[in-house]
Amino acid sequence: MKPSTGHCIFCDLIRGAAEVSICYEDATAIAFLDIQPVNPGHVLVVPREHYEVLQDIPGDVGAHLYQAAVKLIPVVQTAAGATDMNIVVNSGAAAGQNVMHYHIHLIPRKAGDGFDVPLPFPGSPMPHRQQLDAMAARIGGMLRDPLRSGGKKNG
Ligand code: AMP
Ligand code: ZN
Repeated sequence: MKPSTGHCIFCDLIRGAAEVSICYEDATAIAFLDIQPVNPGHVLVVPREHYEVLQDIPGDVGAHLYQAAVKLIPVVQTAAGATDMNIVVNSGAAAGQNVMHYHIHLIPRKAGDGFDVPLPFPGSPMPHRQQLDAMAARIGGMLRDPLRSGGKKNG
């Protein structure tokens, strides 16, 4: 486990030191209602142990969180009376992560609810195919040569 570098509100919730509304828990994962939901039923799926971002998480824990999310998604969607769902991970401060304890947002959605994840990003240009191919080749090369990638730390 990567120890928390400072105070972590999610670690507080997990050890029962603050109010929390839990909808699912097992030995590895816990899911609770977001305190400031986009829509009713906005759930966070969280590892019990403190990891900041996805690449910090051991592979089996990451897979378990994904399985817990997959189990919860249809139930949360029905409970919330929603038709659709955004599954969001903000990974790192520049990507909008505010709580530095990894979590998966399950955000129930209804048409016209006013929330938006604006993709494709308005005004973003479409690069030439050569630029897309060059980036694909760069990523592929790094995957084949982990020493160049600085990539995944855990199995
Ligand atoms: P992020 O910006 O992706 O790190 O999302 C953090 C989420 O945690 C936000 O949606 C917050 O509303 C939520 N949050 C912060 N504190 C609490 C808390 N005490 N209980 C439940 N959710 C929280
Ligand atoms: Zn934590």
